[in-house]
Amino acid sequence: MTLQLRAGVSLKPFNTFGVEVQAQAFAEAHNDEDVREALTFSVEHALPLLVIGGGSNLLLTAHVQALVLRMATRGIRILSDDGEQVIIEAEAGEGWHGFVLWTLEQGLSGLENLSLIPGTVGAAPMQNIGAYGVEIKNIFHSLTALDRQTGELRDFTLSDCAFAYRDSVFKHHPDRWLILRVRFGLSRTARLHLEYGPVRQRLDEQGISQPTPKDVSLAICAIRREKLPDPAVLGNAGSFFKNPLVAASLAADLKREHPGLISYPQADGQVKLAAGWLIEQAGWKGFRDGDAGVHRLQSLVLVNYGSATGLQLLDLAQRIQTDIAQRYQVTLDMEPNLY
Ligand code: FAD
Ligand code: NAP
Repeated sequence: MTLQLRAGVSLKPFNTFGVEVQAQAFAEAHNDEDVREALTFSVEHALPLLVIGGGSNLLLTAHVQALVLRMATRGIRILSDDGEQVIIEAEAGEGWHGFVLWTLEQGLSGLENLSLIPGTVGAAPMQNIGAYGVEIKNIFHSLTALDRQTGELRDFTLSDCAFAYRDSVFKHHPDRWLILRVRFGLSRTARLHLEYGPVRQRLDEQGISQPTPKDVSLAICAIRREKLPDPAVLGNAGSFFKNPLVAASLAADLKREHPGLISYPQADGQVKLAAGWLIEQAGWKGFRDGDAGVHRLQSLVLVNYGSATGLQLLDLAQRIQTDIAQRYQVTLDMEPNLY
């Protein structure tokens, strides 16, 4: 047995909200054997298993009566390279941003817009992470997951994952699939996505007219550092709410009433509303109640000024949801995973 189990471990260092709760049992998985041992332990002791990566998409509302398994597996490898398309495989515990930088160092393009997203490679498929017009489904190749019910390994192709906006098959079956490693199809020829938000503008300001993937990554890192709180300084889990997709008729009604409404028509006829704009217009930007608050620059981000509990953060989120529903008839869904 190589798995090092500890009892009564504080999870404060393991969730980016910095919420202080304890795990009944805690261990780190450094290889597949550790994962299997943790699974066996959880079955034999009838203790639920909660798998985490960087804890950057979690809201912990109570002590966790489970074995918390932190994925700490490492390894990045090139599986195939035809001179143009390159298949890369990374272990679940690899840090996401470090992995993105590694691919850029290899001269590969595809992940640059997803720079500086916290967390691990293994959690990235959970909500099909996305930023600046790219989601992992755009460069995803396949992944290997352990079926926690049968102990068998299964490979998932792109269509198996049912990726959608901040969604996947894994998010709907959190206790079934434990993602061990993920593969991406990247290109040696850059196909850049610069149309989104302030990316092109930032490059123009720097006098870069023919950007490389590394230039795009640096520009996005700079934009993100300006707008988003660093969890090491101010606890947060990134965007707390998803941007709502609403019927075109509701979006049109809202636009008549609120001409400044930020909305993006989708291919399926629905309209995506910028949740941050709704929350800001409703007066929540910079709001603070005790140590739970709404970030002063980005109203989609809830923050922990120090000792907020998960329940206090959840209460604030629910007050915002109720207010937005009353004002705009729009339902805001939470993005982080609640425990
Ligand atoms: P965790 O928070 O540890 O876990 C998240 C969920 O995945 C949990 O349900 C957990 O049980 C499950 N899980 C974790 N690892 C595995 C595994 N190996 N197998 C099965 N299940 C697993 N997200 C975006 O999409 N785009 C962004 O631009 C973005 N920006 C962010 C900025 C900041 C400042 C912060 C704090 C967060 C941001 N996020 C963003 C959210 C978050 O970083 C991502 O969702 C990230 O993928 C979470 O990774 P993690 O390893 O921290 O997952
Ligand atoms: P932003 O650029 O201020 O834009 C506000 C919202 O409008 C974003 O949420 C984005 O939706 C949407 N948007 C902007 N330009 C768009 C376009 N051309 N087409 C369609 N939708 C557009 O957003 P931001 O808060 O600074 O974040 C920048 C990017 O990083 C966004 O993609 C955001 O999702 C991502 N991000 C995610 C998290 C997280 O925790 N999930 C945290 C920080 C940043 P989308 O969100 O759908 O892209």
